[in-house]
Amino acid sequence: MSMCWYPGDGERFEISVDDPGDGRLHMRRLRGDDDADYEWIALAGGHLGVLAREVLTAVIEDRAPVLPYPLSRLQLTRDDARLIAASVQQAVLLAAAGTDRYDRIHVDPDDSPAEALCSSCSLGSPYTGAVTISERCLEHGHQPFGERSGVSWADAVRRRARPARA
Ligand SMILES: [Zn+2]
Repeated sequence: MSMCWYPGDGERFEISVDDPGDGRLHMRRLRGDDDADYEWIALAGGHLGVLAREVLTAVIEDRAPVLPYPLSRLQLTRDDARLIAASVQQAVLLAAAGTDRYDRIHVDPDDSPAEALCSSCSLGSPYTGAVTISERCLEHGHQPFGERSGVSWADAVRRRARPARA
């Protein structure tokens, strides 16, 4: 499920993850009433890590981000870094980990718990139509994603099946 962020007043940047989990995102400046003049900048792989790290470091050190091409085309200022830092972290996480994992990390406390998700085969994903059980899962059992170490698949499934507390 694709997702967009419009950090700040919603008129300065747009960050888009079209295919969560494929390691890519698009980002552009917005002009407000005429945003067509700014090109999308496509980022992939290692550039996502550089963006997340450098924007956050710039905020902590109270300076403008220093970014390599093509990230440099964004011409981010110190204030821009502050504005986009939280959104960038979320977008990079979604781009890298995919919707299933993102949803289990950014949890809405009002929602009932999502189904347990297998780290290996993604059993429990609402986004996978086909059977995904892997050889590893057949041999060793499913491993629940995002649970404390040592929590079994059965325990994870049981716990998440409970109704949400009011
Ligand atoms: Zn599995």
